[in-house]
Amino acid sequence: MSKITKSTADMKVFIVGAGPGDPGLLTLKAAECLKTADVIVYDRLVSDDILKMVPEGTERIFAGKAARDHFMPQDAINQTLVDLARLGKTVVRLKGGDPFIFGRGSEEAMFLAEHDIDFEIVPGITASAGCGAYAGIPLTHRGYVTGVRFVTGHCREGQHLDLNWKSMADPNTTLVIYMGLINVQKISDELIKAGLPADTPAAGIERGTTEDQRTITTTLEKLPECIKRADLKAPSLLIIGKVVDLSNTIAWHTPAHECLLEEDEIAADG
Ligand code: SAH
Repeated sequence: MSKITKSTADMKVFIVGAGPGDPGLLTLKAAECLKTADVIVYDRLVSDDILKMVPEGTERIFAGKAARDHFMPQDAINQTLVDLARLGKTVVRLKGGDPFIFGRGSEEAMFLAEHDIDFEIVPGITASAGCGAYAGIPLTHRGYVTGVRFVTGHCREGQHLDLNWKSMADPNTTLVIYMGLINVQKISDELIKAGLPADTPAAGIERGTTEDQRTITTTLEKLPECIKRADLKAPSLLIIGKVVDLSNTIAWHTPAHECLLEEDEIAADG
């Protein structure tokens, strides 16, 4: 681990993954960055429990982003990092999950590289690893699937979601969908149309790894309705694939709730 010192010669930006919420999932290196930073530029996804670990005197800048509500546009964030580093500060750019998985950490790193600012990237536990582990849904399981695919369920503003549905409709691959809540109906419809069975197991996990985690399990076809019923809010992750069934046996952090719609209840009542 490279040492973090405070001389101007060593000024640097650390692009740090904070993991999905549970502070226990921070890496040792991320925790050290929080302690030694002069200034922390953090996102909305960084949990309060993690922010509590930042020493009181450390300057904090909120750069929070919700999908459609950009507090600070990306260009302004990039420029802020450069400006702070040029003041000789040790800057920690703290992001939810892993900076390089749907985190735009690489865009920030490219901007820093173009401006000759030293940086390090500190990986974090991405939402799919954290949520999968805490919900008892392994992303791969021998005999169930042969791979896993991370997909965004959200496109740039104003553009509609245009994914290669045919290539995604593979019953032997787990699909993990980030930012998928808004488009869940389309995702479900398109995957079924492309040939993924409507009864493929599916889960929605809200605020994974935190004390407020909620997991609902259902099928691909019923996922949109179940998410609406349970009123899942961001941040939530969708997992689609046979592995979801394993949560029945190995969910340990919080129970996975099977979502029963009225038609199921009527069927169950006979
Ligand atoms: N860089 C982050 C992802 C940022 S995109 C990472 O590696 O995890 C934001 C999306 O991540 C959210 O819309 C949601 O789909 C997912 N996400 C992040 N944290 C989450 C959490 N604690 N629980 C559920 N989903 C989460």
